[in-house]
Amino acid sequence: MTKRLACILVAFSFLTGLYLQAAGEDDGAKAARQFRIHDPARPRPPIVDPGSASTPQQPGKPPSDAVILFDGRDVSNWRAMDGSPAKWVIKDGVMESVKGSGYVRTLQAFGDCQLHVEWATPAKVEGKSQGRGNSGVFLMNTYEVQVLDSFNNDTYPDGQASAVYGQYPPQVNASRGPAEWQTYDIVFHRPHFDEEGKVVRSARVTVLHNGVLVQDNVEIVGPTTWMNRPPYRPHPDKMPLALQDHGNPVRFRNIWVRELPARPAAERAKDTEVFLGGALLEPYVGEYQGEGTPLITVTRDRDQLFATFAGNPARPIFAHSENQFFSKYIGIEFEFQRGANGRVEGVIIKHGEDRIGPAKKQK
Ligand code: MG
Repeated sequence: MTKRLACILVAFSFLTGLYLQAAGEDDGAKAARQFRIHDPARPRPPIVDPGSASTPQQPGKPPSDAVILFDGRDVSNWRAMDGSPAKWVIKDGVMESVKGSGYVRTLQAFGDCQLHVEWATPAKVEGKSQGRGNSGVFLMNTYEVQVLDSFNNDTYPDGQASAVYGQYPPQVNASRGPAEWQTYDIVFHRPHFDEEGKVVRSARVTVLHNGVLVQDNVEIVGPTTWMNRPPYRPHPDKMPLALQDHGNPVRFRNIWVRELPARPAAERAKDTEVFLGGALLEPYVGEYQGEGTPLITVTRDRDQLFATFAGNPARPIFAHSENQFFSKYIGIEFEFQRGANGRVEGVIIKHGEDRIGPAKKQK
């Protein structure tokens, strides 16, 4: 192992601890104040092709810097909640929920974002109140913006279309009729938690329904559920977006998201994160040892993986893909290696051009 990489591994343990302590600060205002007024040296915003708005007849075109989640064909970014292939039906450029198949969620995880979703409730009007055209857009798999046929369909107001479910009715009912395509444009800011898991900044959401402002930067008070307003429970900074199966065949098309703050795609790619979740993370757990490598221990707490070197404190690591993991706090990467049977067998630690390993997973 090179001396430099040895230093990096020690730094991984200490610096991530310091970073986590400072992570609660709001850097936005600080950044704004670092420039003089009309400062010509201020970096120019990236140029974005804005695409085009949808019409009831045809889906819109996403902005050029959006992450496309569903373009009418490709469902590679969607999974069932346990990570297995999604069971919703894809046909005619549309993704349709299937009764009893469960929610679907994105593989990629997101925190603060701008989200665009187009949806349509069934042409055949059946059921009433919450039983008519019910689905939902779940931010961070936890906070629901309700999808419902709310055209001539009375229900409790904090459960109608574009409500923050169980918390805020929309300011107005801007619903189109059954089978007509509708749009949500959502701006979401995630909650922030301290190291003890206490919420220090609530989530906030703004929603435009068919272009009409219906939720104006409302403060989400906790996870959205039926008949209950539970307190916040801590979760990662990035989580999947999910769509609800509530037993009605609701259709979706043209789903895209922009991570906030907006950054060029090349820069974003460096910290793109996927959500694997508990069962899919278990195969990495264990001790790794190789010639000239310190003992690497990988542990799991629910949906989070941790790595530790030579008995130093365990620090969180995050997934770029099913083989690449990274630290958010220092520039090291973990490349897990799989055997012919798909089992995780080793890991290589990388820091730029430096690399150590493979460290073999101990039985
Ligand atoms: Mg719902």
